[in-house]
Amino acid sequence: MKKLLKIENLTILAIFIGIAFGYYLPNMAIDFKIIGDVYIALLKMLILPLIFASIFIAILSLGSIEEFKDLGIKAFAYYLATTSLAVGLGLIVVNIFNPGSGGDVVNISQTSHIEAKNLSIHDFILSFIPSNIFEALSKGAILPVIFFVVFFAIASLKLQKQKRELLYNFFDSVNDSMMVMAKWIIALTPIGVFSLIGYTIGKNGLTPLIELYSYALTVLFALFIHALITLPLIAYIIGKFNPFKYFSQIKEALLIAFSTASSSATLPVSMEVCEQKGGVDKKVAGFILPLGATVNMDGTALYESIAVLFIANISGVDLTLSQQIIIFLTATFASIGAAGIPGAGLVMMTLILDSVGLPIEYISLIIAVDRFLDMFRTSINVWGDLIGAKLLNRFIK
Ligand code: ASP
Repeated sequence: MKKLLKIENLTILAIFIGIAFGYYLPNMAIDFKIIGDVYIALLKMLILPLIFASIFIAILSLGSIEEFKDLGIKAFAYYLATTSLAVGLGLIVVNIFNPGSGGDVVNISQTSHIEAKNLSIHDFILSFIPSNIFEALSKGAILPVIFFVVFFAIASLKLQKQKRELLYNFFDSVNDSMMVMAKWIIALTPIGVFSLIGYTIGKNGLTPLIELYSYALTVLFALFIHALITLPLIAYIIGKFNPFKYFSQIKEALLIAFSTASSSATLPVSMEVCEQKGGVDKKVAGFILPLGATVNMDGTALYESIAVLFIANISGVDLTLSQQIIIFLTATFASIGAAGIPGAGLVMMTLILDSVGLPIEYISLIIAVDRFLDMFRTSINVWGDLIGAKLLNRFIK
């Protein structure tokens, strides 16, 4: 009985009840959104202190700049490899299925409220460096905060042992308190998830899914291949662990990613399950997961490559191979730049559409199903981060 009442099982039940609730009582489900919002706000409250403390102590416990470099290079190699595989897979699958080429949906009349994201390389590089760390913290700008804390931790490695330990102990205690808070908030997951799913179904209904089925199915199919074949193979071959056993240990994080559609909001939970159940060392999880939640988004990258080709198809534009190569590069770049929040991938789509000369207003064609696909792609984003943490754990002494 106790096993059945585990949070993961209750959360799965909450997803189903939430779907039924949103479908049959949409107005009430929309009113119940406050519960889900409170739940997400509580998780978000932990993100910045957790990122700050966990990255700091992770780097300090690596002990030296060489060890940090080693883990950092391996992490980036993993992120880049899996993200490129995801985009490549998306492009192959979309070229095979060709969703939208039969002209199944065209409803360009709805105007998009999304504006093009004009991100130059100059702004992109500068956006990593916080000119004022307190401003970055107050705005919740995660990448600049990561930049600062990595820099701060590397510099602290140079301090005398006594001073270094003082800082380490302080941030270690902050981290531990955050994890206790995370545990308490995690206990609220079923009710939070029930409200979030109920709201999503209540607001969107199931009709957009039916109308855009060819596109949605193509994205889901490719996401499943990446989650069930590509990433597990990497886990088996390079990480030498059983990904399915690991999946059952960390599934709670994936359920939360699914319900919140936010990698960042899922971070406290990913860290908790990865360390406590997945057996990953704190110094690896503490570094890889916060970084991964912001820069490693396989699901988002894959979805973007499919969405652009779908939009090109319904607008009757034939993309050349060189344009598809541009998509490959911009989708990888855009997924790194996308924040771990709901809908971030959709905003980044404007960048990719622009890069191949497609009108950004056409984004309105896919908005209706975006929240549904966001739930799946966020789960894959988090699954990619968690596999990465377990895999890199193997290479750390
Ligand atoms: N919601 C996604 C995430 O948080 C980003 C996206 O919109 O694709 O990982």
